[in-house]
Amino acid sequence: MYKLIDGKQISTAIKDELKEEIKRDGIKATLAVIQVGNDPASSVYVGNKKKACEYIGIGSRSYELGEDTTEAELLDLIDRLNADDEITGILTQLPVPKHIDEKKIINRISPSKDVDGFHPENVGNLCIGQSGFVSCTPAGIMELLKRSGIDIEGKRCVVIGRSNIVGKPMALLLLAANGTVTVCHSRTKDLKQICKEADILVAAVGRPKMITSEYIKEGAVVIDVGIHRMDNGKLCGDVDFDDVKDHTSYITPVPGGVGPMTIAMLMVNCVFAARQKQK
Ligand code: NAD
Repeated sequence: MYKLIDGKQISTAIKDELKEEIKRDGIKATLAVIQVGNDPASSVYVGNKKKACEYIGIGSRSYELGEDTTEAELLDLIDRLNADDEITGILTQLPVPKHIDEKKIINRISPSKDVDGFHPENVGNLCIGQSGFVSCTPAGIMELLKRSGIDIEGKRCVVIGRSNIVGKPMALLLLAANGTVTVCHSRTKDLKQICKEADILVAAVGRPKMITSEYIKEGAVVIDVGIHRMDNGKLCGDVDFDDVKDHTSYITPVPGGVGPMTIAMLMVNCVFAARQKQK
């Protein structure tokens, strides 16, 4: 019988711990959230981030910019926020409109306020095992594994997906925890066979229900990063949950698995940023 990894419950526990910590230690933090354009999905994410700040007891400032905002205007705002002493964390909700170069935006945010963990300096720190900000979704997955008592050391870990924000940092974190890690992607040959060797399988493919029981080793831990809206309005992941669940030891549901952890880990990064500043 498989165990469900409850991301909702674990993320609430993390936020409650942060709330206590902030109150106890008098931590002062303010997150600046920039949104360019009014993509409805982005607006929901931004709203949830602001709510989470309020819940744990830190400030948030939002900057809602028009779709026609130029790259120079956005860079200028980031410069001002970098220099603003009250702001301890900055994030730009991605994706940005096509006329803006995402890389330039990521690189302009001060590494010490980069609570998304996307700046090359923070990615480099992760790569060589130095302290810094870690991308929230993979950091959240590590917390899910840890708090569910799942040991990584010596395990065969397979990550499907090699994006900068999920797949690559996920592989680095599993490696740092002494897993034996394989990264698969769209050009991987024999994907099913490789996945079938995994003790821990992380699916960050962006393809609804692609991972069926044919990809799963009996008793594997399966982490589903994907989020897709189906025609019937319901959400599903990259994993075909109903087909896969009985072959696993632990599995994350969608919704209620990885999703809620991303915002909880953003809050962890906001508190880390404020503590670093206090030092
Ligand atoms: P992405 O599109 O940037 O990357 C997808 C990766 O999957 C690529 O590296 C690609 O090589 C690989 N891939 C695509 N098709 C493949 C195939 N047929 N076989 C093997 N590999 C294949 O996506 P991303 O930003 O990494 O996100 C992945 C999924 O996770 C999406 O569904 C996204 O919505 C979701 N996501 C969820 C959260 C969360 O908070 N839960 C956060 C970020 C992303």
